[in-house]
Amino acid sequence: MSERTTERDRSDDPPHHDVLIVGGGVAGLTAAIYTARAGLDTLVCDGDESILRRNAHLENFPGFPAGVNPRLFAEMLHAQATRSGADLVEGRIAELRRVDGDGSDGDRPDEPAGFLAVADDGSRVRADRVIAASWADTAYLDPVEPEIRSAGSKAFLADDPDGHTSVEGLYAAGRLAERYHQSVVAAGDGARTAITLIHDSETPFYHDWVVPDGYFTDRGREVPPGCEEIDATERAARQAESRAAMREYFDAAHEQRQRTHPSLVDDELGRVEEP
Ligand SMILES: Cc1cc2nc3c(=O)[nH]c(=O)nc-3n(C[C@H](O)[C@H](O)[C@H](O)COP(=O)(O)OP(=O)(O)OC[C@H]3O[C@@H](n4cnc5c(N)ncnc54)[C@H](O)[C@@H]3O)c2cc1C
Repeated sequence: MSERTTERDRSDDPPHHDVLIVGGGVAGLTAAIYTARAGLDTLVCDGDESILRRNAHLENFPGFPAGVNPRLFAEMLHAQATRSGADLVEGRIAELRRVDGDGSDGDRPDEPAGFLAVADDGSRVRADRVIAASWADTAYLDPVEPEIRSAGSKAFLADDPDGHTSVEGLYAAGRLAERYHQSVVAAGDGARTAITLIHDSETPFYHDWVVPDGYFTDRGREVPPGCEEIDATERAARQAESRAAMREYFDAAHEQRQRTHPSLVDDELGRVEEP
């Protein structure tokens, strides 16, 4: 399993991040890869139950011609987000509040404007911007009163085509934003929302590309911010590392049990008994 931090700050001065991502499923972790690679201090808080874990074999995500175990895929996403520089914590956000930084609503006047998130264990974290990628959970957003779209028993967080919600600094991604219910759509939506946030934060960012050496500089151009030129030695090293990592990931069957709908089995997480 990927490494996860399990302790959070309980002091009066909660830790501050540029970006808090609520939900470490497909959309949230993809968003984290982008914001962290752009140099934004990114924290992902995740209930650790992506709905994808109920899938039996993921066969329509591009790049895996014979499909991939969805629980392994989730683990690989965790690892990629961490490697990109994001911090992951386990737990559920119970409440998100706006901090106006002016002493109103009991806020401390010296607190920077942004958001304060309270987890269900009472720990708190501050962030300038928040991406909500929590699949079907909108309850923790009630205090900031975003526009919510109701559809029968379901509620979706309304957003514009770039992922902005009706609350400044709050973004939406994935199924929560009523995107089609496929992993590749959730991943693309997470990336799109993250890039919107990166632009809004005025972080110098140019496509996040890795290119062969000389691609820009041999044409008399600076390497743009967010891009990297690598030479043949570095390319070979990275490719060797990626081959070794993939061999290790796919070497043995993934150990985590299949999930199904919890109503079908006597287990709150819906874990099925394997033969
Ligand atoms: C049975 C089944 C089979 C499927 N099969 C396929 C398939 O074959 N191919 C395909 O492309 N798609 C499949 N899907 C759909 C796919 O799983 C989803 O579209 C995708 O996972 C949505 O991504 P997401 O990031 O929006 O939500 P998720 O991946 O569910 O991630 C949301 C995360 O948010 C966390 N969370 C929720 N509330 C909070 C909170 N308050 N605080 C912190 N964390 C929170 C959850 O724990 C979860 O980890 C399947 C879905 C199901 C149910």
